[in-house]
Amino acid sequence: MRRPRQTNNRNRLFLHLEDKAKVVPVDANQWSEDSKRSYVFHSPPASYEDIKYHCSRCGKSAVYSAAEQKLAIEVRKAYIWQRRTLCPECWSARQRIERGIRECQSRWRTHKRELQRDAGFLRQWLGLLETHPDYGGRKNHSGVTMLRRLLGASV
Ligand SMILES: [Zn+2]
Repeated sequence: MRRPRQTNNRNRLFLHLEDKAKVVPVDANQWSEDSKRSYVFHSPPASYEDIKYHCSRCGKSAVYSAAEQKLAIEVRKAYIWQRRTLCPECWSARQRIERGIRECQSRWRTHKRELQRDAGFLRQWLGLLETHPDYGGRKNHSGVTMLRRLLGASV
């Protein structure tokens, strides 16, 4: 969740507060059991700090904020060393792709007979499976092979 860039003067007055908010205290007791097994649990850092990174898909620079880390690690119990690789836009695109794949899979389970002759459906599903790895998803070789074979047979 990205905050809009603040440019007006009123917000500038609060810039120093935002800077302070970039450091958020760590409460290691809230970490997941997996995180507590990491060596860092024995001398945890005092605070989370913003992590700058470049999106692995589009190369844009992005920030994994200290507040987001606290939420992920202490509330959602993500593993302490889990890092972000995609920028927020590419991350939402990945979520959309995965939702699309799940929808195709569930339609396929119930309407396989009709859908295996539906080139539009097959092409859409294939497109999603072929795009997913660009966003860090795992390649689905068997799915891609099956859809290409069906498309070859249906045209
Ligand atoms: Zn990106």
